[in-house]
Amino acid sequence: MILGGSAPPGHVAILHSSPDRGEALARVLRQAGHQVSVIRPGAGALATLLAANPDVVLGTLFFGDQPLKDTMTMARGALGPELPMMIVLGREDTDTKIVADEVIREPVDPGELSLRVGVFVTRQVERWALQKKIDQLVGLNRTSWSFSLAGGPEVLYGQVARLCAETLRADKGLVLLYDPERREMEGQVPGFGLTREQATRVRYPVDGEPRDRWNFRINGPLISNQAASDPHLLPEMVAVLGLRSALVVPLTLGPQVIGLLLVGDRAPSAPFRDEDLGVLQTVAGQAAVAVENQRLHEQIKAANERLQEYDRVKSEFVAIIAHDFRGPLMAIRGFAELVLEDSDLPLDSRQEFLQTIMDQTDDLARLANDTLLISRLETGALEYQWRDVELGPLILDSVPLGLSRHSVVADVPAGVPAIVADADRMQQVLTNLLTNAVKYSPEGGAVTVRVRERGTEHVLIEVVDQGLGIPADQVGRLFQKFERVRTDEHMRISGTGLGLYICRRIVEGHGGRLWVESEPGRGSTFSILLPVDARAATQAGKTGSDGKAASAAKA
Ligand code: ADP
Repeated sequence: MILGGSAPPGHVAILHSSPDRGEALARVLRQAGHQVSVIRPGAGALATLLAANPDVVLGTLFFGDQPLKDTMTMARGALGPELPMMIVLGREDTDTKIVADEVIREPVDPGELSLRVGVFVTRQVERWALQKKIDQLVGLNRTSWSFSLAGGPEVLYGQVARLCAETLRADKGLVLLYDPERREMEGQVPGFGLTREQATRVRYPVDGEPRDRWNFRINGPLISNQAASDPHLLPEMVAVLGLRSALVVPLTLGPQVIGLLLVGDRAPSAPFRDEDLGVLQTVAGQAAVAVENQRLHEQIKAANERLQEYDRVKSEFVAIIAHDFRGPLMAIRGFAELVLEDSDLPLDSRQEFLQTIMDQTDDLARLANDTLLISRLETGALEYQWRDVELGPLILDSVPLGLSRHSVVADVPAGVPAIVADADRMQQVLTNLLTNAVKYSPEGGAVTVRVRERGTEHVLIEVVDQGLGIPADQVGRLFQKFERVRTDEHMRISGTGLGLYICRRIVEGHGGRLWVESEPGRGSTFSILLPVDARAATQAGKTGSDGKAASAAKA
């Protein structure tokens, strides 16, 4: 009977001065289930010992001519100071100078040998397990201090993915976060050991098929060492990540599952085990807090940026009131004073002055409205009211009243589709462009509004006049606030330089584009390229899922 048979199998190196006797001892230990390397004395002995990386060394006092303890000193230097040494003491050996962890005397009793070696092997196996735990704890400790919010979400997700994978000695790591709108977990870039494309392609819906396979809320973590054939895993996810094995734990915040932490692909000889799960769960606890902190941090940052923007808009608003409202106010006051103080003023002059007061008052009202609208556009407070809009009637409603020297022609082919837009805002844009076309054509002339389809998803609206035109070097600025053409002819015509800026913001708010082509002295064409469905185009822009409108608008 072999005692000590319940010990785990280990690796024993035998360094015996007699190879035959060494083989005899090896047979005993092999029978007890151990792996044994018998190393012969000579020049390559130390190298062979190191390569064998044993759990226990069993040897004679002298190994060839050399004391065994010298070889062991070098082996322990390379393999670790804990490597146990057992001496097989021959009958002729005295025990006065023995330095060893265990001594066994010839004739060796097989049972006793197995028992004693078994004790060492068990101790070593426990030590390796302990060392592994220590390594993991060191890894976890690194995880806890190294999550940093300063670098932004990507840096955080990359850190979590890498540290999880490294701590669990896996080749791949990925953070997935729950998107409440899409109701799915989404891979966050950058993963670890994955391309950005792989990471972004991972989608794990929380309903439907995946839920039937494995519900993380109810079933908790998942270990799979045969990912490709595991019925609990979503095959698409396994395929996208090329997973052989996987360990997935939910990221929880109270009762909420806010995401998943996935590590995958370990060496086939070291499958994921239950104890690894505990480690990943510990990381997940910390990662969940870090992810939530990151979210809050981003929210605060965004709120702060919005506040700064409000502040800037408010300062600009105050500056406009202080500066641009003064001119008309001074004019109104001056003309009112003239009318009041001169009772002999001829009737036509009186009429003219009162008309000026009326015009200036209109300008002031428009300035106030435009300024308010700009602040709403810039702070995102303006919400578009999407509905179906027929372009023909919209254009007719946009033509300014009281035209005498100008003719307006609407060229809208039958069959042009209705668009989805904010009718009031689009009417405001067209009224502005038509008013400008009339205003900056002081000699009169024709103004044409032309509508054309551009593909199936866009319409082009052009407002063409035969007026003053715009010098080429000034075109670029005109869509900015307060910018006007700086020529005498233009400056004689009253204006604020806010209209085109507002038009551009509204058109862009519809997912479209506004631009002008002009020839000084011959006229200008203002063009609007609009998506047929502005609601869909702007939604797509927000989620970033297609961006067709943006690219078509640039074409
Ligand atoms: P406003 O007309 O109140 O000055 P806009 O922002 O509507 O402000 O226009 C900015 C400037 O662009 C105008 O001041 C004018 O110089 C020039 N502009 C706009 N429309 C035309 C046009 N149809 N023809 C020539 N110039 C134009």
